[in-house]
Amino acid sequence: MIFKVTPKPRYVEVSAEGREGFVTFPTYLPGSYVIRELERNLVDIEGVRVSKNKFYVKENFKYRMYAASKDQREAISTQDYLFINPPAVFPFQDKKERYCVKILIDWPISTTLKKEGDYFCADDYETFIDSPIQASPNLKRIVIDDHHEISTIDELDVSQIRPLIREIDNEMGSPERYIFFFRRSDRNYGGIEHLDSSAIVVNWERSELSQLLAHEYFHRWNVRKFRPKDMELNLETEGYSELLWFAEGITDYVAWYVATKTGSVNPDDSGKYVANALSKLTFPGAKKTSLAEASRTTWIKYYRQDENFLNSSVSYYEGGLLVGLLLDIKLRQRGGSIFEIFRNIPERYTFHDIDRYLKSRGIDELEEMIYSPSSIILDFLKEQLTVSLVDEGSQYFGVILEGNRVVYVEDNSPADSAGLMPQDLIVGVNGASRSLEVKEARLIVNREGRLIEMTLRPGRSPGHKVKVTIDGPKFLGIKEIQGTSTINII
Ligand SMILES: [Zn+2]
Repeated sequence: MIFKVTPKPRYVEVSAEGREGFVTFPTYLPGSYVIRELERNLVDIEGVRVSKNKFYVKENFKYRMYAASKDQREAISTQDYLFINPPAVFPFQDKKERYCVKILIDWPISTTLKKEGDYFCADDYETFIDSPIQASPNLKRIVIDDHHEISTIDELDVSQIRPLIREIDNEMGSPERYIFFFRRSDRNYGGIEHLDSSAIVVNWERSELSQLLAHEYFHRWNVRKFRPKDMELNLETEGYSELLWFAEGITDYVAWYVATKTGSVNPDDSGKYVANALSKLTFPGAKKTSLAEASRTTWIKYYRQDENFLNSSVSYYEGGLLVGLLLDIKLRQRGGSIFEIFRNIPERYTFHDIDRYLKSRGIDELEEMIYSPSSIILDFLKEQLTVSLVDEGSQYFGVILEGNRVVYVEDNSPADSAGLMPQDLIVGVNGASRSLEVKEARLIVNREGRLIEMTLRPGRSPGHKVKVTIDGPKFLGIKEIQGTSTINII
């Protein structure tokens, strides 16, 4: 198919050429496990609607998409800026045929699609939707080195990014050309990976970018080059993978490791990052959910997190990070490192490919770590790290507050027994004090505008505040790392 795009403020107008027949707009996009229904942005189309995202069209047809999203997974068009993540804008017919796009505007354009005359092309739809298109009269190319650049309208100091990239390239090899599509916004959206690029949108306040950039960059290998065999590109329905702990968690571990090793993040933040991940394993969700299950249910749990998430699931990012830490320590004890896994598994890998390789290195516990409730990972790590639960046995109610508002009630805690609900606003404690540090608290709670009195008797904390010390010089060839978790449950 061929698309000609005319950007207008808030809209992109597309004139498309394909075959008479059906076109399909994706309902979600790769790298993000939520049905986004971006076809809802379609405002006009020359065609007959067959379903929410399918149309019968002639050989040539036009359509118009609303494009005002600041999110790097979507599209925005303004009087001086255009960003398109292609699956948010372009439909497909046969995914195996060629797709080309021409942007009808006289601005510098940045993309990793192949330039063919006035068109940017890819040999199939999967490749076509894997490269963002960014354009602006103010577009700048900030060179990191011969192979890596940043495409942006903003400023970015590349001195902290260069060592991270070098560290990863030393292990994995350099790509021919890699672009970070970067943009500042009023919200911190994060990043999304592509094979030869990534798109990153962060707010103006965020100064520390090394771990985020390293994470998206390492995805070039873990997810784009190497991908779980069960992660299929369907684009119209959820695809279930049990391996997101590897795809995301190991990527996060590598980002943490290279940022820590190169000194791009300060050691306190590195320690806190690991301590917070460990702390999550002490909550009820981790005591019932395996990382395989957390991966499979990402569509309804991780990507649809509510205030009960710590009771009902676990983050495969954080769990996977810790599995990565353990595997790296064990592989380094055997003279290798986490990176060697990628030299020994097929590009479309299964759990058994990873497990079989680790077993050949004498590491037998992967299956137990991934398929048992993930709290078990803490037990395995205690053999390698110094981990203590500093609040274990101390007075506790089992709530997390934001100001005076309850944002989490731990299952089977005193707060749970008293009947506290998330979103309750505590307006009085024992009549006057705003503190919960008392033997028995009589609470007045504002719940949906009604005042409710309840009595809260403290119990003993199962232990959520984690203090960790990683013997970096011995295990990882980095400085010693210490940290205490910051999740404040009282
Ligand atoms: Zn990721």
